Amino acid sequence: MRKKIAILGSTGSIGTQALQVIEEHADLYEAYVLTANSQADLLIRQALRFQPAAVVIADEARYQYVRDALADQPIQVYAGQDALCQVVENSEVDIVLTALVGFAGLRPTVAAIRAHKQIALANKETLVVAGELVTRLAMENHAPILPVDSEHSAIFQSLMGEESEIEKIILTASGGPFRKFSKEELQTVTPAMALRHPNWDMGAKITIDSASMMNKGFEVIEAKWLFGVEASDIQVVVHPQSIIHSAVQFRDGAVKAQLGVPDMRVPIQLAFSYPYRLASQFDRLDWYHMASLTFEEPDLERFRCLALAFEALRRGGSMPCVVNAANEVVNLAFRQEQCQFLQMAEVIETTMLRATFVQQPSLDDLFQCDAEARRIAAEFIK
Ligand code: NAD
Ligand code: MG
Repeated sequence: MRKKIAILGSTGSIGTQALQVIEEHADLYEAYVLTANSQADLLIRQALRFQPAAVVIADEARYQYVRDALADQPIQVYAGQDALCQVVENSEVDIVLTALVGFAGLRPTVAAIRAHKQIALANKETLVVAGELVTRLAMENHAPILPVDSEHSAIFQSLMGEESEIEKIILTASGGPFRKFSKEELQTVTPAMALRHPNWDMGAKITIDSASMMNKGFEVIEAKWLFGVEASDIQVVVHPQSIIHSAVQFRDGAVKAQLGVPDMRVPIQLAFSYPYRLASQFDRLDWYHMASLTFEEPDLERFRCLALAFEALRRGGSMPCVVNAANEVVNLAFRQEQCQFLQMAEVIETTMLRATFVQQPSLDDLFQCDAEARRIAAEFIK
């Protein structure tokens, strides 16, 4: 029996790589549901090729277009955010890959967990916004969450076969394209410069987050919830070559790490196949010609976003949700040249000060916190 996979965000960077994995292992997996926000043409091409049972176009304005294109196919076509939740609940679906970007991932992920699905989690924003709630729900519903984020997959792999407690997580970071930039130089960087990541080819939002290091801050929060460790036991280490994808230190001082060529298909595939590893044709490390592996301390002065994420985690409650919402606003504003690179942290910090704080937010509270923080951040940019 092939496992049926629902890919939320099949047209994105993670989504398209997941389809490569499925194609490579067509004897084991099938793409059962494909979804996109607005890239209708790519979604249609993917549907014709992979013949899923259903597709969802989140942007309702494009529904008719997609439906017409697939009219002679045995493929259900849906539109809207609610449909994302409904398709993952389908009893045929085995695995839900959350490869959509931002807060929009929260509701469908919760729906998939409540439907007891195996979650291959790429959408880290879900755990940033609602880590406590989502991990508790996953426990109650016996819905395993398998990390797709390369660092978290590395930590997960380092923990395979281990029973002992974690002493410390070593979360590696490439440092992004501005690792060596001075504060003065950071003042004038452009979106085009930020979008050129040295090691990874990713979607625009996460690439900007990598340049500001907010991505690493989010990954600290993600690691806390996935592995049940305190923020003080997570050490961020800048490792520009992105060969060591992260590591775990145990109580005897032993450190286990996972290494490899930077390629997201490795963690995607493992999130599907765990506890087994499948063969792959992906590039192998070339030990004789590898650049040297180097390590640095992150600079929280130049990369304020990382410090703000730690602060949000320390405050807990709704604060990470506020930071995520403000970050989504500034991230887009920076890409649209409505906000300078260093202003992103300023706006986020101001939003943290002004937003209503909720200590034990429910799912509904989080939607309100998200909306309020977006308003505050957008006003402040103006
Ligand atoms: P992307 O921008 O390339 O793709 C995003 C996908 O989500 C697209 O298919 C898009 O249509 C869909 N989408 C966007 N907004 C939506 C909305 N409001 N409703 C429904 N669908 C929507 O992004 P990506 O780089 O593939 O990243 C996806 C997620 O994976 C993010 O949470 C990111 O942080 C995480 N992630 C990505 C990488 C990577 O290498 N790209 C690595 C680690 C984690
Ligand atoms: Mg990562």
